[in-house]
Amino acid sequence: MELTEEEIEFGYALGLYSVAGLNEYNIQLLRYLKEWGDNPREEYYPPGMSPTALLVYNLMLYDGPLYGRYQMHSHLLSRVLSRVEFDQSREVPDQIALYPDRATFERGENKKMRTKPGRAIRRILPFLTDKEVDQMVDEFRNQIAIDPSSYVFKSGETQEDFVHAYSHEQAPTANLDTTPNHKSLANSCMRHEFDGQSVHPCAVYASGDFTIHWAENKYGRIAARCIVRNSNKKAGPIYAVNQIVVDLMQERLDDLGVTFARNGDWNGAELLLIEENGGYVGPYIDIGPQALAVSSDGSSLVISDRGWIDASDYDGILHSDGRSEQCSHCEEYYHDEDMAGRTEDHDQICDDCAYNHYTRCDCTSLWISDCEIETVHLIRYGTETTESWGPNAIRCYATWIPHREEYWHDSDVIYDVHTTPITSADIDEGAWVMNDDGEYVPASEYEEQTDEAA
Ligand SMILES: [Zn+2]
Repeated sequence: MELTEEEIEFGYALGLYSVAGLNEYNIQLLRYLKEWGDNPREEYYPPGMSPTALLVYNLMLYDGPLYGRYQMHSHLLSRVLSRVEFDQSREVPDQIALYPDRATFERGENKKMRTKPGRAIRRILPFLTDKEVDQMVDEFRNQIAIDPSSYVFKSGETQEDFVHAYSHEQAPTANLDTTPNHKSLANSCMRHEFDGQSVHPCAVYASGDFTIHWAENKYGRIAARCIVRNSNKKAGPIYAVNQIVVDLMQERLDDLGVTFARNGDWNGAELLLIEENGGYVGPYIDIGPQALAVSSDGSSLVISDRGWIDASDYDGILHSDGRSEQCSHCEEYYHDEDMAGRTEDHDQICDDCAYNHYTRCDCTSLWISDCEIETVHLIRYGTETTESWGPNAIRCYATWIPHREEYWHDSDVIYDVHTTPITSADIDEGAWVMNDDGEYVPASEYEEQTDEAA
């Protein structure tokens, strides 16, 4: 295939380094472009190729079944594909619209011809075999002109469901009108596998408070996903790969009575608590407040505007500016520095509640509700004193002395001949005395015995 002088000149003018080295496929592209009247002096920018043109471009140069079969000159190919304005038809989605010839092109936009995808591809790349054209048409139907009925919708609440929807291989991306509630899956920062940590950050949504809805294409690749809070049916954004599947997911959510969450609609929802690398495994959370607190029993994370764990990070481990904890008494969240400590039930309480409603047990150092605290008598350095004890300490280390109506520390309780518990106070007061056998007897009985002996 010999190039004419004129064609060689045209090629150099297009900015090709070596026109002489072009193979026959690229020569065909060059001639096509010359016939189309491409202006070589026109400033060349990487064109805003249509998704369909970009698909053909990528299939010829980068991936898919045709990769490596033809050595295409990327500069020539992109110039041809953008020059003919090769695109999916707006009227008939399974067809392609393009200018049939230069004359029509010059007459303008509304003179595009609509044709079957195979014919359109063959017109631009006439050297492809029938089989190759069929393969390219298949890709067009799989990635651009998608059959809506080919999508399968699924939902679930387990860690596996969340991780699958987030990190499984994604379907190819096509046209999508993005809005705050309809986002591009390709741009999601949470779609990676997060190999470096024990679980994918989205796994923490599997607390039972959330459901993940997702769509798979016919190859099982993820085409859309959306997280919904179960209690109020408030959803995060839909992330999807194209407009068709966004619309289908939207319909599905509408049918389920789900609406999009606003700031605060996920407040109080729980996430799994998984500590790792000095932080907590967790995703970027789309719905504000992007903050988490540790629940009062320490078993889960809670979305809360009082939280100190920052959930606006993308790196999979969320960090805290101090620890945030819930007071089991007033149920508010506080920075850990403002917490008083734990109760006998191992619940955390805040400083304010501790001051107003609790007393610290002198035995266990745990906080005891004022209505449960008891006074316990004991002997310290030979002197009777009292402490405040909680029920557990009482049960383990104190004895009720019925005749005194007092609790006494076990180590200061002795038993008389009748195994009645008495205290050193009873002895000091003379109510019990030691008999000749070294046993304590009530003073009244001792006098009787003495009287009898006399
Ligand atoms: Zn409190």
